Amino acid sequence: MGNGDTPTSPHVPPHSCGDHFNPDGECHGGPEDEHRHAGDLGNIWADADGRAAFRMEDSRLKVWDIIGRSVVVDAGEDDLGRGSHPLSRVTGNSGPR
Ligand SMILES: [Zn+2]
Repeated sequence: MGNGDTPTSPHVPPHSCGDHFNPDGECHGGPEDEHRHAGDLGNIWADADGRAAFRMEDSRLKVWDIIGRSVVVDAGEDDLGRGSHPLSRVTGNSGPR
């Protein structure tokens, strides 16, 4: 909240988020894969009302890896790099952000 006199709003980045976090130069994959983008966290599932409850633990990412970065939920299912679409090895062909 602000000082009580001036409304505040959440920070909105001036442009869209970049590519998947990939400090090792890997192709897209799933969270259990040896070769994956470090930021590849797999899928979550929402119910018919669009609500999802989840907890994620990742063997590779540390909290300090994601501080200052964005966590993005794409519209579609991530094929974890196993699909035949050209975007499979890039984004998991998971649709719009
Ligand atoms: Zn990826």
